[in-house]
Amino acid sequence: MENEETFQYTPIQPKQPEQPKAEYVLKDDVTHKPSPKRGSYVITDTKGRTFKMTHQPNSSCRKCYGRGYTGFNLTEDKTIICSKCYPSPKR
Ligand SMILES: [Zn+2]
Repeated sequence: MENEETFQYTPIQPKQPEQPKAEYVLKDDVTHKPSPKRGSYVITDTKGRTFKMTHQPNSSCRKCYGRGYTGFNLTEDKTIICSKCYPSPKR
């Protein structure tokens, strides 16, 4: 006579892990800067200066080669922004 084993099926109860409550609230990210707006583009020249522009420079521009600036005014220590990609509105 074989041993009749009676299996009592007990469905595994999915444990409901208690969600640990967050002790902090993320207010802003590490940079503390607002997320960049659409359509804004920042040019960074070789001297580390940044210029906020409204759009990306033309990558096929023959004047600035897509950099957004053509060079430096050494006497005034200013970066010359490409006038072809960013024509001055006061003209
Ligand atoms: Zn250009």
